[in-house]
Amino acid sequence: MPDNIPLGAVKRHLQMAYWRSKWIFKRRPQQVIDRLPTELLIQVFLHCLSSKSFPRPSVREAPILLTRVCRRWRALAPSVPQLWAAISLGRSWSEARDLKALDVWINRSQSHPLCFSFTHSVDYRCYGKLVQEILPQIHRWKAFYCAASDRCRCFLAINKALSIPNNALLLNDFRFIKTEGENPRVVTVRAAPQMSTLYVGGDSVLYPIAPLCNKFHAMRELRIHKCPNVVSCLHTVNRCPSLQILEIAWLNHPYTPRMPHIEMHSMPHLHTFLVTGSLEKACSFIECIQAPSLLRLTIFSPAVERWDEWNIWEGVVKLIKRSVCHLEEFRVDGMISPSIGIAEVLRCTPSLKSLTVGRYGLILTHMDALKPSFDMSYTLCPQLNRFEFLGELSSADLLQIATTIFHRRRYSQRWSQTNVSPQTVLFELKGYIPQFISYYDVPEYINDGMTVAELDCSQAWWVSEVL
Ligand SMILES: [Zn+2]
Repeated sequence: MPDNIPLGAVKRHLQMAYWRSKWIFKRRPQQVIDRLPTELLIQVFLHCLSSKSFPRPSVREAPILLTRVCRRWRALAPSVPQLWAAISLGRSWSEARDLKALDVWINRSQSHPLCFSFTHSVDYRCYGKLVQEILPQIHRWKAFYCAASDRCRCFLAINKALSIPNNALLLNDFRFIKTEGENPRVVTVRAAPQMSTLYVGGDSVLYPIAPLCNKFHAMRELRIHKCPNVVSCLHTVNRCPSLQILEIAWLNHPYTPRMPHIEMHSMPHLHTFLVTGSLEKACSFIECIQAPSLLRLTIFSPAVERWDEWNIWEGVVKLIKRSVCHLEEFRVDGMISPSIGIAEVLRCTPSLKSLTVGRYGLILTHMDALKPSFDMSYTLCPQLNRFEFLGELSSADLLQIATTIFHRRRYSQRWSQTNVSPQTVLFELKGYIPQFISYYDVPEYINDGMTVAELDCSQAWWVSEVL
């Protein structure tokens, strides 16, 4: 813009243009849409696609819906390959109908990379025809999600295709979740050198990456369930040197002897680590890794195991100290007993900002560790200002939480350290909120800016994607 044009004149001009376009659109919306340039209309089409999942072949959803509006749209939409580059199938319960839709999508997507999502549950009569339709296009696969029961016949063909090195060169996101049936699926991935996201879950067993196969340098997120043993799991992460997010859901298993000493394995980029299931195997794995960039850690055990599991805390403390990491978010949940070791973890996490505590209340008894010292000279985790509480709580638990928060606020006022003062307290079950507010001066804390609300677990970073 030239310097000699006054800013006020430009503003007035823009304001007039805005009101004029608004008036025209209000009076003659159809004419305005009809006059949109094709490039702009294509952008509008692309914004109509669902951002939550791949599009379904439905007359109520884009892109099919777009072809039923007017003559111009009916002619334009099928010629835009990006509109047809992703499809979600399986809801129609009919393989023949899905096959028809898939054929349309593949033809209209031209040479664009493709994303597929198949949901083949036990009620879906899968004869493997869909996968036969897309296998010739494997060079165009970009993302492939499959949730399958025992009856799905796609799996063997997919697994075979992904066991050939340097196949599926564009594939960067592969997710296979075995949903129903008793026969576990064994998944092996040697193809897709550009893969950055790999989920294998449900009743699948992952022998994912053989020790001698090429490294997956692009792999950022790996989530696996039922990794058969710790050695196999270490081989897998060893093939993925750039891992940032790792979830391992260990199978709860009868006692297995401790492993012999294994070489320490470093994961320099790992910032989020989810440990679920058997703590016994988790202990062995944690003893063998270093994660200097670790910021988020969750430990969740759905079942009680032997009484020596407190080693999990010993292992976690050693991992944090060995890695010299600055943990910021920590969630502990489930049947982890005894839980006394959690205080040791809190002692070595001065950077902790968020703590999520799970069910069964045992852990809450150790929240005492988060109260300031008797003489108010120090407190653990001075930056901790967000608390999340999951599942059922007793009145004693609620009082314990309120007491801890009361003491931390007093410490904060005494030393004028506002970051110590809890700012957010969230409950998974909102029914506890009124009782919590009745303790101490919690209403006053809320007036001062503290948030007490329901926790939306669906958006939490610690939610498992493979269980
Ligand atoms: Zn299938």
